[in-house]
Amino acid sequence: MSGARIFRAPGRVNLIGEHTDYNLGFVLPIALGLETRIYSTPSADGRLRVHSTAHNETRDWGLEQIASCTPQSHWSDYFIGVAREIAALGFEIAPLDLKIESTVPEGAGLSSSAALEVAAALALLQGRTLDGLEIARLCQRAESGFVGMPCGIMDQYVSLFGREGAATKVDCRTLESEAVPLPAGIAIVAVNSMVKHSLGQSAYRIRVAECAEAARAMGVESLREATAEQVNMTLMPEVVRCRARHIVTENLRVEAFVEAARTGDCGRMGRLFSESHASMRDDYEISCAEIDFLVGAAESLPGCYGARMTGGGFGGCTVNLVAAEGAAFFIGAIRHIYQDAWGKNPQIVECVPAAGAGEIL
Ligand code: ADP
Ligand code: MG
Repeated sequence: MSGARIFRAPGRVNLIGEHTDYNLGFVLPIALGLETRIYSTPSADGRLRVHSTAHNETRDWGLEQIASCTPQSHWSDYFIGVAREIAALGFEIAPLDLKIESTVPEGAGLSSSAALEVAAALALLQGRTLDGLEIARLCQRAESGFVGMPCGIMDQYVSLFGREGAATKVDCRTLESEAVPLPAGIAIVAVNSMVKHSLGQSAYRIRVAECAEAARAMGVESLREATAEQVNMTLMPEVVRCRARHIVTENLRVEAFVEAARTGDCGRMGRLFSESHASMRDDYEISCAEIDFLVGAAESLPGCYGARMTGGGFGGCTVNLVAAEGAAFFIGAIRHIYQDAWGKNPQIVECVPAAGAGEIL
């Protein structure tokens, strides 16, 4: 596509703060070098057309159809959901030929969905200015309201506001963020289990509802407001208490992790990873056998400070905090151990914090 405008949006790995975003708590993601690009040229026939290279499929719409289209349980829902939101804000959608290319693995917990949404938003805006926070919000509305995944705002937010060279701590209540530089000498390694259990989507929805139930029982607007004591003392079903305990303790772990990162305490950072994983496994019940195996194997390797699942759960990736000088050994060893036990070759990514989305000029 010569002469195409190119818009890019990164995937992300969340260091700590899992399922806290829709509870208006804290998260600490980094934007990745893995990204989704959309190549854009004017379309000759007045229609809006999008092609996904990964799926080798094209969809198109008349501009007048956009406002009234309905979800099709298809990848293009993410795209047209964003188009609807942009149109609803009063922006005219131009007739475009768009091509999606992505290096973010789909369904691996590295947020290919938000990378697609944000790249789509930028491509459809064609350089017209809209506040980044508004873009994050409209992409989240597209995923929760149109695609039907009741997600928080972390993925879209960091895809837009990620920073080179630092993690981004986001307060999901105020939507303010700060850069959190990581200590020198550590590597962040994502290991993709290459499994995605089908339980994921329905379980996510159930967790969102359980958190709302816990907040109602405690009389707080969101679990962000709840304390560990309230969680212990309030009458609620035991399983709901466990969910709430994960959220309340996870928010504290994000703050402790940021503190440890600022003081260069890699040992503490690693221990917080382990505690976060145990909480996701036992209280939030969103892990699975492959992921627990990867976490256990990683923590037995020299130079690994700690490991945890990252992303929505039931498969996807672990994130590992590793001494930089031992990273090459770690990657070779974890690949070998996982392949031996599960017969799958894991995709492994060394995560270097990259900048948020934009047009490639
Ligand atoms: P994650 O965001 O962790 O990768 P999700 O289940 O939230 O997993 O989103 C994955 C979905 O996003 C895919 O199943 C597909 O529908 C859509 N998607 C992501 N990237 C692309 C792409 N390059 N082309 C088409 N669809 C994509
Ligand atoms: Mg996603």
